[in-house]
Amino acid sequence: MRTRFAGGIALLTVIAAGCGGLAASPTDPADGPLPSDPTMMDFADPSRVDGLTTRTLASHLTSTNGRRVHITYPSIPSTPALTDRLRDEVTRQLREFTDSTSTESTGGHAPEFNVEWRLAAVSPDVIGVRLRSGTLAGRPWTNATRTLWYHQPSRRALDSTGLLKDSAALAVLAGKVRQRLAPRAPAVNMTSITPVPSMFDSIAFNRDGDLVVEFDDGQVAHPSLGRVAVAVPREEADPLLSAVGRRARQAAVEAPRQMITPPPVQAFDDRPPKARSVTAGSVDCAEAKCVALTFDDGPGPHTDRLLSILAEHGARATFFTLGSNAAAQPGTLRRMRDGGHLVANHSWSHRDLGALSGSLLSDQLARTQSAVDAALGQVPTLMRPPYGSAGTEVAKVAEQMGLSVVEWSVDTRDLADRDPEAIARRAVAGAEPGAVIRLHDVYRETVDALPAVLTGLRERGFVLVTVPELDGLHAMEPGRTYYAGRAATSTAPSPHASGRPQGASSP
Ligand code: ZN
Repeated sequence: MRTRFAGGIALLTVIAAGCGGLAASPTDPADGPLPSDPTMMDFADPSRVDGLTTRTLASHLTSTNGRRVHITYPSIPSTPALTDRLRDEVTRQLREFTDSTSTESTGGHAPEFNVEWRLAAVSPDVIGVRLRSGTLAGRPWTNATRTLWYHQPSRRALDSTGLLKDSAALAVLAGKVRQRLAPRAPAVNMTSITPVPSMFDSIAFNRDGDLVVEFDDGQVAHPSLGRVAVAVPREEADPLLSAVGRRARQAAVEAPRQMITPPPVQAFDDRPPKARSVTAGSVDCAEAKCVALTFDDGPGPHTDRLLSILAEHGARATFFTLGSNAAAQPGTLRRMRDGGHLVANHSWSHRDLGALSGSLLSDQLARTQSAVDAALGQVPTLMRPPYGSAGTEVAKVAEQMGLSVVEWSVDTRDLADRDPEAIARRAVAGAEPGAVIRLHDVYRETVDALPAVLTGLRERGFVLVTVPELDGLHAMEPGRTYYAGRAATSTAPSPHASGRPQGASSP
């Protein structure tokens, strides 16, 4: 088992990839490395972990009842105990969120809960997963972090305090943290910092091996203060670490890093080519009856099977990928490209873009452009806003990044009931020339429905193409919103409607 895990991680090279102008986000060390700040951590490259894929929990859950929910967490085949632990953790957090928020919109937005993840460290015997949970219930967003660790030799998932020797070490650490935050009192509430595991639930290491403690927004200070974190220098933290803690520190120092943040703005000539289906133009949709299947939220654990099914049927599709998933499964993106499909942008972590602005909004799109570029050497030209929620600012940012906004004309509601027969029925019955059909490739039932979808559409004489190939869409403009090809008669606004705000709100 250990060998298998060790063999699954290639600790050979550092991938430094990405491009496009990204702005740093003030709220997450993942968004903009500031090497001078020792509380900023590097993250390990998940694509280096063999078999790693992502699991998704989203708004289709009946318990969410109108709230917007999107949760992703990693799943590694050789560490089932870690996957179970992560699932338990996000399920607990989701229950807390639904119990503590009403379904009423606040500030014009539905309550939203979003969990994304990064790898705090990876080595043959230790892996650290940092979950960042964002809650929007009124304004502003508040973030909480929790870092869980897995120790391969003992096959145990541990809380962050498992990195420490014992409760005495936790008490010493709490003292050191208080000491370092003391100059920020009274903005930071010193008496709130007590040596309890729930307070120290996100511990990791920076690239120098210093121990980093992160607090949730609002945990030790007013939420408006943002992220509060402390770095305890390596030599001081060392005596406090358990054996697992020392291995975790070593892993953090040595792991191949994930570089989603891009190099400085590039010369025009160095800009990557725009993503385009390798078989674009092979069908004339002014002659043929064309429809476009679109898959959101992936890639996920079932996407490779989906690609095989599409290949068997000679069908092509457009994938609105989540950047964080794309960065974890770049090989799946390459399969998409090689199969004649089109890779597009569905934001980084599936936050409601209509509820974001400034760098938080542009980051969501720019980081995904970078992740796709890192995988394919091409950047997407299409984006689909999570929850279908956009607005003038989203359209403006999309335009700046050369992205057209693509909604849909047929919703299979595959997330709502997860019933393969119903999904296939809606896709086939709803199809008309020029239709854009919306599905999700992160759930088994959708992929199970695919053979019937493809057979049914073929029996009705449809040819499956990527979105820009639909009649009338071959010259899509950045910043404009499209619902279907010109041939479609659906009730949705015409393809040349506009980039006006529009409040589609489906899961
Ligand atoms: Zn989505």
